[in-house]
Amino acid sequence: MPADESGIEPWAGEPEDEPTPDWQDVPDGHKAGYVAVIGRPNVGKSSLVNILIGEPLAPTSPVPQTTRRRLLGILSLDLAQAVFVDTPGIHQPRQPLGKMMVRAADQALIDADLVLCVVDCSREPGEEDQLAVQRAQQAAAPAFLVINKLDLCPDGGFRAGFEALLPEVPHYGTSATAGTGVPELLEAVLAALPENPPFFPPDQVTDVFEREVGAELIREAALLLLQQELPHAVAVKVEDWKERPNGMIYLSALVIVERESQKGIVIGKGGRMLKTIGTLAREKLENWLGQRVYLDLRVKVYRNWRKDENTLRWLGFAGE
Ligand code: GDP
Repeated sequence: MPADESGIEPWAGEPEDEPTPDWQDVPDGHKAGYVAVIGRPNVGKSSLVNILIGEPLAPTSPVPQTTRRRLLGILSLDLAQAVFVDTPGIHQPRQPLGKMMVRAADQALIDADLVLCVVDCSREPGEEDQLAVQRAQQAAAPAFLVINKLDLCPDGGFRAGFEALLPEVPHYGTSATAGTGVPELLEAVLAALPENPPFFPPDQVTDVFEREVGAELIREAALLLLQQELPHAVAVKVEDWKERPNGMIYLSALVIVERESQKGIVIGKGGRMLKTIGTLAREKLENWLGQRVYLDLRVKVYRNWRKDENTLRWLGFAGE
């Protein structure tokens, strides 16, 4: 019975005990854990996470270092849940942005139950691979060495060299694009997880806020179109995200650059470049969300945003 003519029920107060959600009521022996995916940029970390969880979530791109934030992919099965932490590329930090990326990667390692150290068999082991290997060796959790891009190395490429760098852990060979070796890797990952109830509801595939993934997709579109002119000076901040009753998503975002001259490049003659970026970004967003998107993009100059810790935090890069 409605309490008054407005039809609003009287406030009954908080229930005394939060009931355990159904999805945490699981059989004995259920496993769950965090899997940190580390390795230098472009070895295929995002691609591997995508194929392991079976959903295209973490944006992948031929432009190195576009994965700057931690993106989680969650795989929920009847008896196990693997939470993949796709860390920013590990490299020698020179600027505050680089330092924050490394900090985010460190945090992922501290929380991890398993570490996947991913390398690319087609490229000679380098300094950044050595750093990733060191981190895997220093992590408290067990580690696997994942030698990816085997489709590019019919003769094994630099596989043996990588195996010699990390001889003490199990090795798995994969191709994230062809899918070879992925079922074996997944089986080993699930077997290595500790016994835990699931951390997330089974229908949840990522805990990254939609707007963060949205910003990443817009940035990816901008980088694909501007690659030659502005390698890494572009950031994106989603300012507004609303779902209209007609099912359309209204999204307004800032494309942030470091200098006035870059603003001109992003906007282009008569606004044409910004329009093209907007169209490509909207396609990517609609593809990902499965809904129609209205995208409002504006360009703003934040002088030297990559060097300013406050701006970096505002942009959502991991801080302390
Ligand atoms: P990340 O920076 O380590 O996350 O790397 P990405 O997953 O973004 O992959 C970087 C590039 O390598 C993309 O162009 C991918 O399509 C490509 N790539 C990833 N895995 C493989 C693989 O197994 N084989 C081949 N041929 N390309 C791959």
